Amino acid sequence: APPRIVVLGSLNMDLVLRVPHAPEAGETLQGHSIHTVPGGKGGNQAVSCARQGAAVSLLGRVGADDYGQALRAALTRDGIDHGGVQTDAQEPTGVALVMVDDAAQNRIVVIAGANARVEVDAHDPELAQRLQHAAFLVAQFETPLAQVVTAAALAHRIGCKVMLNPSPAQALPAQLWPLLDTLVVNEVEARLLSGRVADTPAEAAKAACALRARGVARVVVTLGAGGAVAADTQGCRHHPALAVTAVDTTAAGDTFLGALAVTLADGQSFDAAVRHGIRAAALCVTQVGAQPSIPDRDAVLRSALPPDWIPL
Ligand code: ATP
Repeated sequence: APPRIVVLGSLNMDLVLRVPHAPEAGETLQGHSIHTVPGGKGGNQAVSCARQGAAVSLLGRVGADDYGQALRAALTRDGIDHGGVQTDAQEPTGVALVMVDDAAQNRIVVIAGANARVEVDAHDPELAQRLQHAAFLVAQFETPLAQVVTAAALAHRIGCKVMLNPSPAQALPAQLWPLLDTLVVNEVEARLLSGRVADTPAEAAKAACALRARGVARVVVTLGAGGAVAADTQGCRHHPALAVTAVDTTAAGDTFLGALAVTLADGQSFDAAVRHGIRAAALCVTQVGAQPSIPDRDAVLRSALPPDWIPL
């Protein structure tokens, strides 16, 4: 049977504008193109998990509008159970305006809309049942913190491991730390949570150690083209990235996390899971857009192998 994963998170419609450079205040710029693509960290991570072979249930909230319907249709196409996605009568579906320049740097404005009103009911028997059968509850910070804590507490009580990607970066409420099994952070989140600079593998390893000391079994610090640092009871390793030509890094972190979660849920080692995440993310950055750029399992298994990891 495929591993089961429950994702709590945001669903956005991404309006992706390709531009020569970011406009200055007062500047009117002729862009190259616009694409409307399903995104949002929750949706992206759910899609990454599904494409890596997991049975995925998504908890979230969209508006009663065309974007909401289009997002549900996209989830259906990926075989994701969106019975736990609520429809908000007042707020619109979340939108992200993503500007990608010719240097593949992105600048993003997010309007949370319905995502800000996700409600997790700790007494919902259907939710308890979903978590009972799942290897992981995956959450980020694009949905309200209080709801993340409620879901994590329920998962923890039920015995479902919690994987948190605290993005956008925000301090964790004290009660969330003991509920976490795996923490996946980028450099910015690592610095905010550990109080240490984490922009080199050696620095990221120190930050990861500090985060592990809060009681988290596994920590990954992703370093963009620098790869990732993995920390667990065995110590810290640097996993270099694959050398690829990045055209759009949107959803690289989400793709990585999904591939990591499914490989761990499959019973493989932490290092094997990080390597699988690195291969999946490398494929993602060579394609434009959020969900269209997330590779499936076969594509990852056909792709090049990353360099060996280095103990730190
Ligand atoms: P995003 O917010 O863009 O989704 P993030 O900040 O959460 O990303 P990153 O650390 O930028 O996460 O990237 C996640 C993983 O994606 C990295 O650990 C790496 O494996 C892969 N990756 C990102 N950028 C590149 C790149 N330019 N070349 C190869 N791999 C990359």
